[in-house]
Amino acid sequence: MMVDKKKPNQQNPEPCRNYKNELSLLSDEKANEVVGRSLKIYYVVESLRITNTFQYKINEFVEAHMFIIDQEVQLFLKKPKPNEDELTVESIYSGMAGIALLYNFYANKIHNKNKAIEAKLIIEKCLSILDENSDSVTYLTGKSGIFVTATEIYRDLGDIKNAKKMIEKVVDLLPLALNQKMPDVLLYGRAGYLYSLLILKKLGWEDPDRDKLIRKVVLSIFNNGIQTCDRDKPRRTSLMYKCHNKKYLGAAQGLSGVIHCLLLAKSYLTKSELDDLIKPALDYLLTLRYKSGNLPVSLCNDPDHLVQWCHGASGVTHTYALAYKVFLDEKYLNAAIQYGDIVWKRGLLTKGYGLCHGVSGNSYAFMSLFQLTGKTKYLYRAARFVDWCLTTNRQNRIPDNPYSMFEGVAGVTYALIDVQDPIGANLPGF
Ligand SMILES: [Zn+2]
Repeated sequence: MMVDKKKPNQQNPEPCRNYKNELSLLSDEKANEVVGRSLKIYYVVESLRITNTFQYKINEFVEAHMFIIDQEVQLFLKKPKPNEDELTVESIYSGMAGIALLYNFYANKIHNKNKAIEAKLIIEKCLSILDENSDSVTYLTGKSGIFVTATEIYRDLGDIKNAKKMIEKVVDLLPLALNQKMPDVLLYGRAGYLYSLLILKKLGWEDPDRDKLIRKVVLSIFNNGIQTCDRDKPRRTSLMYKCHNKKYLGAAQGLSGVIHCLLLAKSYLTKSELDDLIKPALDYLLTLRYKSGNLPVSLCNDPDHLVQWCHGASGVTHTYALAYKVFLDEKYLNAAIQYGDIVWKRGLLTKGYGLCHGVSGNSYAFMSLFQLTGKTKYLYRAARFVDWCLTTNRQNRIPDNPYSMFEGVAGVTYALIDVQDPIGANLPGF
């Protein structure tokens, strides 16, 4: 699903992974001219409000998608209670918790309490069939994501008592998150648990031990990263992480994704951790770039194929944008811009429209650059990519989870709603 196992082969050359973006071939001067002329199709430049035309077009799709997703929701809600051995984790990434998150997000945007109540029904069903014995702790693929989403939904509905119960459930996962066997990466490990704790803090989690607890997770992530590097002879960088026995580099399973979460937790980091651990790792990642400028999937000589949130330039655009905000080092700003240019050139993926490895996910790289630089060309690029998602039949295969938040139509719908708020738009889970 996330890991691309296909190896290039002389007889069967790899099919092209992306459509050519002809707009990326324009000279800077011409491109600026086009942005100046065409941005107004999408946004009223002075107010950064979406134009009525674009909004109507988007909302047609949002409504159609929500209708399709609704059918799945009804089937899910009607499912009989499973046997003990059929309990499961309906994650944000691929399961119904992602749909609950979308519903609550939509409910808040359109101020529709009925939609929020539907979100509550979905998440409560997820909770009722949850496999408590699962050792998945992360926000995107694990139990904490379900509890955090439930916290948010209860809070928004004014049910503080149940919101608190959900917070306790996330905190109770701490021993599991600190277990030695747990990986550190965002999708499957500690960084993904750290992300949940940071969201809880935003949702109003108050506890005298809160900061101590978050710091514990941060320290554990640093210690494992240092130890993995210490095993390398010669030692190549300050932090490195393994997932499925491989040293991945991208957002979902790799070093940059872990660094991203640590940077989000920067108020829990010491100056020395920022300067002596995070910065050298960010600099090391820059030395690993392909000739094209793209970030390799891992340290295993992977071909330069993937430009998507989970692997490659798209995810790491966000991380260097964030790194620039933290360190104010121009090198990171330039890196973010260069990664963004690769997404513009190669990010119209034939794989599909989804958030994880699709075009809507790639659109968020431009939103991140727009929010960082204020340059309208990034807003234009984000809108262009989202607009691309409104034409059907451009994906060469059906995703594994076609309705899901990270692979399917729910994520595209989330992006269609989010593009209407360019200042606040944020890829969920990152
Ligand atoms: Zn992916």
